[in-house]
Amino acid sequence: MPTSTVNNYATSAMRLSTDRVRELVRGTILERIGDTPLVPLRRFGAGLRGELWAKVEAANPGGSVKDRAALWMVLAAEEAGTLPDPFRAMLDATSGNTGVALAMVGAVRGHAVTLCLPDRVSIERKRVAMAFGARVVLTDPLEGTDGAIREAQRLATTQPDRFVYLDQYSNAANAAAHARTTAPEVWTQTRGELTHFVAGVGTGGTIVGSSRFLRRKGVRIVAVQPDQAFHGLDGLKHMASAIRPPIWDESAADEHATVSTDEAHGLIRRLAREEGLLVGPSSGAALAVGLRIAAREESMVVVLLPDGGERYLSTPLWE
Ligand code: PMP
Repeated sequence: MPTSTVNNYATSAMRLSTDRVRELVRGTILERIGDTPLVPLRRFGAGLRGELWAKVEAANPGGSVKDRAALWMVLAAEEAGTLPDPFRAMLDATSGNTGVALAMVGAVRGHAVTLCLPDRVSIERKRVAMAFGARVVLTDPLEGTDGAIREAQRLATTQPDRFVYLDQYSNAANAAAHARTTAPEVWTQTRGELTHFVAGVGTGGTIVGSSRFLRRKGVRIVAVQPDQAFHGLDGLKHMASAIRPPIWDESAADEHATVSTDEAHGLIRRLAREEGLLVGPSSGAALAVGLRIAAREESMVVVLLPDGGERYLSTPLWE
């Protein structure tokens, strides 16, 4: 892996400010990334000791939380002078949402995009990424995102003249996006009253970045993983059995919890009916843990819901 490139991104990610990001995206759809709604789940969370609030990331223009990470990774590469590059496409491995987000950001900023996707991501995500002009390389579905990561590493190593490997799993700008946007937003939106922040772990960017900002404020950070290696919680990783993302750091969370696919699926069906929010399976996993905390103690729990349910309508979940 081209480590020096990643370190360059790290330096530019640290230098990138929210003001600079705002300036770079002004007058484009990318201006609408972030500042997503925070809504109270009054019916869903009725009768609990604590309050349950949802950060609705489907409201981002690319439809998921990964718009934030994609935007910051691309702009950090631009600030480092790595992009634009007329001869190289930006490359990453993704379970789908980062692919859609990079494809959208690439379309606006004028960068070609190549994505390695396991050949089991929902057809919607594949088609949306392609609609934004991305080239898609499908990898062995049985190997999941780890197979996609291995293919992206192979392409980046064997054809460095063709690809700029963003590598969301190692890229400091991924976590920085959450430290500088997601976390300050929930702090402001709750007027500093939140006690727990709950989110799933894929790359670890959301938890590690948000923790950097919220821990100093005394907020407890809760990380959610699937309860087994083979699961239906798209976007989440079972860390014990997966390739460990270099940016992931267990110590960023105060609590670690696991959720079964069945429990998560049951909760997203309930959420749609009780709150009018149609979300993806990883949101169900975060909700399950949010419910446990709010049932257990007086609290103000913010649960991050990474994407919307439309992206999964073709899967057996909604049959
Ligand atoms: N849920 C979904 C649906 C996702 O696409 C992702 C990103 N892989 C996550 C959760 C986890 O987010 P992060 O990569 O920031 O850990």
